[in-house]
Amino acid sequence: MKKIYLDNASTTSIRPEVVQEMTKIMLEDYGNPSSTHSLGRHSKSILELSRKAIAKSINATAAEIIFTSSATEANNWILRAAVTDIKVTRIITSRMEHHAVLHVIQQLKREFAIEVEYVKTKLDGTIDLTHLVELLSGEGKTLVSLMHVNNETGVILDLERVGMLCREYGVLFHSDTVQSIGKIKIDLQSISIDFLVASAHKFHGPKGIGFAFVKKNSGLQPLIYGGEQEKGLRAGTEPVHQIAGMAKALTMSIDNQEAEMLQIAALKCYLIAQLTTTFPDATFNGGTVGIATILNVLLPFSKDKTAMILFHLDMKGIAVSRGSACQSGSIRPSHVLAEMLSDDDLKKPNLRISLSHYNTIEDIDGLIDGLKSL
Ligand code: PLP
Repeated sequence: MKKIYLDNASTTSIRPEVVQEMTKIMLEDYGNPSSTHSLGRHSKSILELSRKAIAKSINATAAEIIFTSSATEANNWILRAAVTDIKVTRIITSRMEHHAVLHVIQQLKREFAIEVEYVKTKLDGTIDLTHLVELLSGEGKTLVSLMHVNNETGVILDLERVGMLCREYGVLFHSDTVQSIGKIKIDLQSISIDFLVASAHKFHGPKGIGFAFVKKNSGLQPLIYGGEQEKGLRAGTEPVHQIAGMAKALTMSIDNQEAEMLQIAALKCYLIAQLTTTFPDATFNGGTVGIATILNVLLPFSKDKTAMILFHLDMKGIAVSRGSACQSGSIRPSHVLAEMLSDDDLKKPNLRISLSHYNTIEDIDGLIDGLKSL
């Protein structure tokens, strides 16, 4: 049975070129980058070239890129250190953030009694910028944490605008850019942002590696103590093959961004057309204008079909998500959709269909057939 993979917001398949690069490094370039002999120095040079390539892709400097094991780790570090080291006493965020941000902020509130303000969101999944401005006028050393692209709805935040507002009000700005890095151009010379995070497995790189962009002189202290790796900010021997794999995946995504995103946008248009023709009462959570890779659809199915939908599609070899991946298997509704939908609509099947350039028209036809046969 041919598998149809439409869950690319959860994770993506690795590009073969990335696997090749990583395999070569694992077999041949196995030196510890902290060792002074030639094998070690060679690994160090792969590491630093990777850092430079990643920095260049977002127009930052190499010194501002810190490697981490995941975006979750990078978010935890930045948010915690903002409170403990930079002495932030107030965080403005939204209820639609990924749990890798929301749960950290809730924990920081419990531990340090910081003030947490949730900016209002609209029913179309966008952030209410007028309310954000109101919140920005409040007192106390403040950090704004708002994601660039929502991982469930694909709704895009105007990063430039929020960056400008944060600068105007003299507050720090952190953005989880996990779903946009490699897909939307981010130029850190024109966007005012202090911290962003990324994860390689979301852009056809390996799992278990990510990075944080931390603006120069930020004042952050380490999350993990030990050796001098990553300028002492993140101790632990660097996984050179993972880091080089991430750099290769990101470089390839940026080099092919225009063509691949156009191809994905055309697929998304086809998907929307097929869904609306087959199920005229279908609606789209967050609309259809978000990032091309993500579409969240509410299907007008009866209750008995709702419980079966993911299982039924899975039996046909079709992988999609209901809500976000971390919640599939749990009966709790998505915390993102809960902000946008009525209680009744929340109980209906909400599918997140997420695309990559490896998908085809046939994949979409397979999904529609699968849904029709429910
Ligand atoms: N932030 C967002 C928006 C995500 O979609 C994800 C992954 O689902 C994460 C953070 C966590 O990333 P990682 O898998 O690298 O921990």
